[in-house]
Amino acid sequence: MGATATGKSKLSIDLATHFNGEIINSDKIQVYKGLEIITNKVTDEEAKGIPHHLLGILDNPNQDFPAVDFRRQATEAIDSVLNRGKLPIIAGGSNSYIENLVEDGDFLRRFDCCFIWVDVSSPVLHKRARERVDQMVAAGLVDEAREMFVPGGGDNDYGRGIRRAIGVPEMAAYFTVENDENVDEATKGEILASCIEEIKVNTLKLIDSQLEKIRRLRNALGWKLKRVDATAVHEKCGQDAEAAWDRLVLKKSLEIVKTFLE
Ligand code: ATP
Repeated sequence: MGATATGKSKLSIDLATHFNGEIINSDKIQVYKGLEIITNKVTDEEAKGIPHHLLGILDNPNQDFPAVDFRRQATEAIDSVLNRGKLPIIAGGSNSYIENLVEDGDFLRRFDCCFIWVDVSSPVLHKRARERVDQMVAAGLVDEAREMFVPGGGDNDYGRGIRRAIGVPEMAAYFTVENDENVDEATKGEILASCIEEIKVNTLKLIDSQLEKIRRLRNALGWKLKRVDATAVHEKCGQDAEAAWDRLVLKKSLEIVKTFLE
């Protein structure tokens, strides 16, 4: 578990590699096909051959996938992974999905669980998240969002399915004017910049609300979360960040899972 941009996907893949695991996605937007850049889905290269379940499984961008559907399909995936003698690792994302799954009466009777929370201090994570939006723009966020654009669309279009993803509704203001000959290029550029700023602001709000929900699971519901502090990793770049990851996040997480399995 952890807020967006903390590194939980990477950690889940590292743990699955080490403990012969398979990953079950619990991010409510990544269950849809598409928006690879905007949702920061793991690439085939990053997945390192680890099977991922419930990732990009919904073709219909408007389809609802409520927490009860997630619970049913995630439980099936957990059973199939266990039947193959492997370790199920649930990675994500959406706390309402995880809460619904775990708080279901039978879940804790059937499965022993180990919760790892990848935490990063808010100022560092906010800075990192803003940079990541710029990287997404460089990687093609605008073109990806354009494919989801609904001219004249309202809450009905952007309030359900994959179009709820941060990065899609915010861009509508730009797509509305980008081909308008009555709007000059400088104004179009300003509108684009303000849409990107709005994506950043909404990403930071998401981070804050995710952190609040994780704290609630720990403090109000009593989940025994093992907190791993990845702040130092995100303060560094390149090889230094890789080394800090191995030393501070991976090593500690491997120990946590090893102790749990023993
Ligand atoms: P809620 O019940 O409020 O949706 P939650 O814990 O189930 O909360 P979150 O994962 O916090 O869900 O997602 C809340 C909203 O944040 C989503 O509806 C979507 O707008 C946005 N969001 C979540 N994950 C992503 C993602 N991977 N990419 C882009 N936007 C996302």
